Amino acid sequence: MKHASNVDDSNTDSQAHAVWEKDKNHFIHPFTDFSTFHQQGCDIISDSDGIYVSDIKGNRFIDGIAGLWCVNVGHGRKEIGDAMAEQATRMAYFSTFNNLTNIPAAELSAKLASLAPAHLNHIFYTCGGSTANDVAVRLVHYYFNRIGKPEKKKIISRKNAYHGTTYMAATLTGIESNNWMFDTLDSHVSYLSEANCYRRPAGMSEAAYCDHLVGEFETRITELGADNIAAFIMEPIMGAGGVLVAPEGYHTRMQALCRQNDILLIVDEVVTAFGRLGHFFSSEKVFGLTPDIITCAKGLSSGYVPLGAALISDSLYEVLGTPQGKGGVLSTGFTYSGHPVSCAAALKNIEIMEREALCENIQRVGPYLETQLKTLKHHATVGDVRGSNFMMCLENVANKETGELLPLEARVGDRVAEEAQQRGLIIRPVGHLNIISPPLIWDEAIIDNVVAILDASFSAVTESLK
Ligand code: PLP
Repeated sequence: MKHASNVDDSNTDSQAHAVWEKDKNHFIHPFTDFSTFHQQGCDIISDSDGIYVSDIKGNRFIDGIAGLWCVNVGHGRKEIGDAMAEQATRMAYFSTFNNLTNIPAAELSAKLASLAPAHLNHIFYTCGGSTANDVAVRLVHYYFNRIGKPEKKKIISRKNAYHGTTYMAATLTGIESNNWMFDTLDSHVSYLSEANCYRRPAGMSEAAYCDHLVGEFETRITELGADNIAAFIMEPIMGAGGVLVAPEGYHTRMQALCRQNDILLIVDEVVTAFGRLGHFFSSEKVFGLTPDIITCAKGLSSGYVPLGAALISDSLYEVLGTPQGKGGVLSTGFTYSGHPVSCAAALKNIEIMEREALCENIQRVGPYLETQLKTLKHHATVGDVRGSNFMMCLENVANKETGELLPLEARVGDRVAEEAQQRGLIIRPVGHLNIISPPLIWDEAIIDNVVAILDASFSAVTESLK
């Protein structure tokens, strides 16, 4: 969908060129293939409004990924900008160390405690999702040290999990290619299999697959010794690892094993919180989990400003908040923990979500998106359509019967995304996958439009593969 631009083309071309020159020479982009980056150039996204973003040349696209799973309330919310500006001019920053605080941090903490499962009442602020997971692990280790169980150190994670890229979060991340040639803190982490119903062993029922995964955890506990395991960390639905929905019963059975073995449960809700699955937090409401810690980021501020948080249970806080003795402090935190401008943005974001009933919108429209995306299964390359509500993924294959993948050189995920973008829709390619994680303000009409674009895009790619 190209929208006529009222800007002089030669001007925008030269501006785009100037931006690209600076960018390519100086900006180290995250997760970018530098073998093609310089030749390909960049789409310079310069403007946004509601469900749309526009590039510097005036081309407008439907945002099918909410920025990067985060712009949940949609783009260009003046109210959020105003709340940030008001806070920035009143008091942009002051320390929250020791006995200092600010109004938005206190207000947001109470608000999050009211939205989270009842026992999670204590909030530790970070600058994003990776740091929230890092903090969660540090606090878990500290907790066990404090209660006289210092040998409880191992964190159980899963293959294909994504928990971020700070040193610890990268180690928790089980996507092997992410850590290629990077060092990791291996001695701290042990990986279970991911829960991948689509690629479960041939002939195994979903129920038997669940038994198998739970059995693997049981065996691992025996091998490592419960006395050496501190926590199990999981995304309720794995996101970047391929939007993997676990089999029925998996979450509560894994939680039960944690409880039986004094293993804490950290649920990484960086993607699944703030409406994407139809609730502010999905742990309890969708998956029947009562985590010791929930980490979140992204939708917490709808990406308007960097912000993350670790929500800590009352029982953990009882230990963390107990003085170590005279002068002892909980010696961890960031300059920007509880940043007033970030917290003001998050408060306004939550106010909008409540006022516009965005969780309820997802409960209504989410199943429609699922159903409509599933109509794309007739395409030759679409092997699986999976996910939940506004967290969806299509897996491209060479053979639907066997699930065999197309060769990497076919760049099938990339090509589908490119075709979609030419038709005015941005979705995310990850290898042979296409991920769709829209702002929460899509309605049925937009979904119909998006599915029509995807239909044409898959047809074009299938045709070109013949
Ligand atoms: N956890 C999950 C589940 C994520 O998807 C992400 C980012 O995509 C992170 C953690 C890391 O968050 P950030 O990039 O804000 O550090």
